[in-house]
Amino acid sequence: QARKRTKPDWLRVKLPVGQSYANVRKIVDENKLHTICESGNCPNMGECWGAGTATFMILGNVCTRSCTFCAVATGRPPEYDTDEPKRVADAIKTMGVKHAVITSVNRDELKDRGAEIWYQTVVETKKASPDTTIEILIPDVKGKWEALYRMIDGGQEVVSHNMETVESLYRRVRPQAKYARSLEQIKLTKAYGQRTKSGIMLGLGETVDEVHKAMDDLVENGLDILTLGQYLQPTKMHIEVAEFIHPDQFEKYKEEGLSRGLKYVESGPLVRSSYHAERHVNVPI
Ligand code: SF4
Ligand code: SF4
Repeated sequence: QARKRTKPDWLRVKLPVGQSYANVRKIVDENKLHTICESGNCPNMGECWGAGTATFMILGNVCTRSCTFCAVATGRPPEYDTDEPKRVADAIKTMGVKHAVITSVNRDELKDRGAEIWYQTVVETKKASPDTTIEILIPDVKGKWEALYRMIDGGQEVVSHNMETVESLYRRVRPQAKYARSLEQIKLTKAYGQRTKSGIMLGLGETVDEVHKAMDDLVENGLDILTLGQYLQPTKMHIEVAEFIHPDQFEKYKEEGLSRGLKYVESGPLVRSSYHAERHVNVPI
């Protein structure tokens, strides 16, 4: 039990330092923006921010949901900030980001689930930086498909929606979400002509067969790109790590995913859904 809790060597990362890092910090603060890099305590901040890139989190930093792995605060979100799309676009332009990843909290209390802000953010970013490619990592719209269609209509290159875990763990890990509903959202996104991407965290107690089953379900529902990474507990209040998956097993999952029909699989202990995201824009639709 004690061994399980100690972080293995392959999860040690560099501390964030340097000029690019400081620059990203300044732009994020000046534009009053939130990033999932910080809100999610991402282990790759040294690498990504050091390379001048970050994942912006729009629609505030308070979420209506309470996924047990997630470090974002849960509550009643106060703001609906119609100026945010413009500030995100400005920050991306100032940073000179070549590939931008944008995500958001869940806003289940909003009729449109935040779709209009999503749409405007992509449109404004493309207007300000026409050569920048964009991935949107969108929330579960809870079956409100008009909201989905508005959300994905801004002209981004990749639409991501994370399954996060296997079906049997949904109740413990994503209590307000449904496995079948997230699959359906991916299916409809694909049918809308989009390049689709999803992510699963490993080490929450899932079995190898369950991961394979999730891969098959995703292929059946039109998924193009899958990311697999190790779950890390952000604080003691969050769901515990059940297992540290060995890098060799991540490699095996990658091969398995490709052989089951996924077009691209990014798999490794430190992989996050926005990690190496620039590689995914050229995956054929
Ligand atoms: Fe941010 Fe994603 Fe990089 Fe983590 S992997 S630091 S969330 S951009
Ligand atoms: Fe975190 Fe997203 Fe779950 Fe909200 S919906 S708690 S931001 S993972």
